Amino acid sequence: TEVERHYGVPWMRMPATRGGRPRHGLVHALRQRQAMSRLLCQLCGGPTVGTRKDARTLFLAAGARQALYAGEPTASPPVHAVCARLAVEHCPPLHRRGWAAALVERTPVWGVAGTVYDPLTLERVPGPEDGEGLHRVAFTDTRRIRWTLAARLVITLEGVTPVTDLDALADEETAMIRAMR
Ligand SMILES: [Zn+2]
Repeated sequence: TEVERHYGVPWMRMPATRGGRPRHGLVHALRQRQAMSRLLCQLCGGPTVGTRKDARTLFLAAGARQALYAGEPTASPPVHAVCARLAVEHCPPLHRRGWAAALVERTPVWGVAGTVYDPLTLERVPGPEDGEGLHRVAFTDTRRIRWTLAARLVITLEGVTPVTDLDALADEETAMIRAMR
């Protein structure tokens, strides 16, 4: 099969999901990369650009431990405030384990998450046990990135302001979208 290259790295090709929206954590490579590079909402797939007056972007992470930090690499695309509010109310893992949200000023690309191969044996290097078992490799790691098959685009969050009141943000967003019509 042919290999697609983006950001100078070969990418995994995965079968398209069968109908409907992807479930949390099952976003496939193409959709994730497009969502990241175009800042599409990971929940509804719509553009987040132009939904806030200050041009910042909202990010949401699951887990009580996780605040969102400046400089933190992430493979989770942004969210609309309206979609985030729905998700924290109705998505059981977010409800149970908690969540953290932040408004972010800049989202420079950092690298990829993917499968890494040993240049000598050409064997797959075992990934971390947690999550999807993917290695995170920075674009600046020029040696390792040559042996990486990418599955996710990873960005960093810069200019991070933590958010706890999703209601207020969602109301602002709704007003902004109405005003644009
Ligand atoms: Zn959305």
